[in-house]
Amino acid sequence: MRRTVMAAALAAALGAAAAFAGEADPPVVEPGGPEFARFLFFATLEGACEDAVPDAAVEAFLEKDEKGRYRNFVYACPVCSPVLEGLRCYGMRDRFYYSRKGDPLLPGAGAGPSPVAALVARLDTPKDRGTALHDLLQRWIDRRIERLRLTDPERKAWRQAMAIGRKKGMGVLDSSEGFAHKSCPSCDAAGGCPFEGPK
Ligand SMILES: [Zn+2]
Repeated sequence: MRRTVMAAALAAALGAAAAFAGEADPPVVEPGGPEFARFLFFATLEGACEDAVPDAAVEAFLEKDEKGRYRNFVYACPVCSPVLEGLRCYGMRDRFYYSRKGDPLLPGAGAGPSPVAALVARLDTPKDRGTALHDLLQRWIDRRIERLRLTDPERKAWRQAMAIGRKKGMGVLDSSEGFAHKSCPSCDAAGGCPFEGPK
């Protein structure tokens, strides 16, 4: 009898705690803040490693114009910057590996072709490169959100921050000289929008 009473009391307490958790305010994610930058940086670096993105594709995404300006990233965009840095980090991994053989962060030789091989098979035109970058990033952001097992309010907070980051990026798009596209591949991916294509 006593056990039953205690169990009922515990259930009531847990119920109250759950109700309280449900009412909690969603976390504040500052678009462009350090947490935001880390999310995109690590989503990109981890995604590129897990998908074993070919180095030629990374080079294509990091293409610059004749004045050294990135063609596929908006200058000073809060979304583009950490994505670009994640790809740059991935591209220079052979320079920070410490006395190791092979490519220790990538799937082993028996893993078969890259799961994104088809996605990066054609990178001939600006549209190809923008579309591939957009689709990869959307995949990596979704994967990171799943992996972090965010609650619904947390998910919502992140999606909102991404949408605000996208808005900020789109606001500086026209002043980003050398940029090749009508909309930003990275920002569109982060904001859950389709990619519009080149200018
Ligand atoms: Zn952007």
